[in-house]
Amino acid sequence: MWGTVDGVRVLVVEDEVRLARALQRGLRAEGFAVDLAHDGTDGLHQAREGSYDVVVLDVMLPGLSGYRVVQALRADGIGVPVLMLSAKDGEHDQADGLDLGADDYLTKPFSYVVLLARLRALVRRGPANRPSVVRAGDLALDPATRRVTRADVEITLTPREHALLEHLMRHADEAVTKTSLIEHVWEGDGDPNVVEVYVGYLRRKIDVPFERHSLETVRGVGYRLSSER
Ligand code: CA
Repeated sequence: MWGTVDGVRVLVVEDEVRLARALQRGLRAEGFAVDLAHDGTDGLHQAREGSYDVVVLDVMLPGLSGYRVVQALRADGIGVPVLMLSAKDGEHDQADGLDLGADDYLTKPFSYVVLLARLRALVRRGPANRPSVVRAGDLALDPATRRVTRADVEITLTPREHALLEHLMRHADEAVTKTSLIEHVWEGDGDPNVVEVYVGYLRRKIDVPFERHSLETVRGVGYRLSSER
């Protein structure tokens, strides 16, 4: 009734090694191909590189928490279904995980049968085909509706400003060169002065009214959008 799961690829990110191994054995017996990661940093790296069909992600992890991992995946536009595992059972924590882009949530200790059913449901559904909301600090940008907010206050952008902000948000906390912005936002047909002008426009919309300085100039390189609040 479930259809085959042969070849379906699962990444389990769980620092409790015995639990991770037990999940791997159980899921392999069902026909899943299962890889393990034992901390958040490795988990994020593998999830980015590995083209998995579904990720089982513990919340409390060394390195990066599960929340940060799912947030980073969604910020990169990776829509792989994510099932979060948590020892916490507060409604607040659950809402946090789902807000950040998780698809489902199980509280430890969980029933293996329930986990299996949820995983199969996520695999059947596949990656969400809505583009995920991109976030950097309290900035949020929805590529589908083109709605941009800071601290839930709506910001109106022109299409070019929107494209510029989206690129900077997808590379939040990284120095982005003017060359790369010209390539991605102006389709290669722009010059550094135009980039500067548009960065100025953006600052007047996303920073100045909120008394922030998130869009930083990186001298000799380009710009960096900080996700710090
Ligand atoms: Ca843990």
